[in-house]
Amino acid sequence: MKTIGLIGGMSWESSKVYYELINRIVREKLGGFHSCKSLMYSVDFAVVEDLQHRNEWIKLEELMVDAAQALERGGADLIVLCTNTMHLCSQAIIDHTSIPFLHIAEATAEAIQEKKLRKVGLLGTQFTMEKDFYKRVIKDNYDIDVIIPDPSSRRIVHDIIYQELVHGIITDSSRDRYKAIIGQLVAKGGEGIILGCTEIPLLISEQDVEVPIFDTTVIHAEKAVQFILQN
Ligand code: GLU
Repeated sequence: MKTIGLIGGMSWESSKVYYELINRIVREKLGGFHSCKSLMYSVDFAVVEDLQHRNEWIKLEELMVDAAQALERGGADLIVLCTNTMHLCSQAIIDHTSIPFLHIAEATAEAIQEKKLRKVGLLGTQFTMEKDFYKRVIKDNYDIDVIIPDPSSRRIVHDIIYQELVHGIITDSSRDRYKAIIGQLVAKGGEGIILGCTEIPLLISEQDVEVPIFDTTVIHAEKAVQFILQN
């Protein structure tokens, strides 16, 4: 079995979900005592959050490249960056490592394509919703339209991620606010909803939404296991 290298800690609330998922999927697929060979480089999220909100993306690239190179030196065969937002740094990681990188937006777009949807809503941090590094992959490589909430709703989605979800705080009132924003995206023609932040699935699940949801944490973890078992 090959080894998955996880860059985690962004936040650890979702990294622990990745860890559980990759092990559970390997056990389901291989049975017996099997579990997933993995390494995790878990960062201090305070440093990352501060640099993100000061728009210090070059420094963040350096941090992500350091983590990825440490995983490669440690024997990882695949890099899995356990956050949507930090895929803003994905090209730097790809350029400075020599093992495959599993892009979360590519994995998600493949799942949307399998369901034959052409237009989906995206929820995530403001970085993920507003910058083009994420939507562009889905539009240019898969021809799937991505719509995002209006500016005030984007702020709400972003603030709930940073003030609650990454701290493990899950409330009914925030779930209701997310459901209302998802309703607006569905009304605008969204045939599915990308939960494009790895903590959103802690708050929102299938039963909260009338259209298919794309849980990026689950999709990414499943593809990672598929990769290491096939290659
Ligand atoms: N985990 C989140 C994501 O998937 C947000 C935290 C971060 O900024 O990395 O985007």
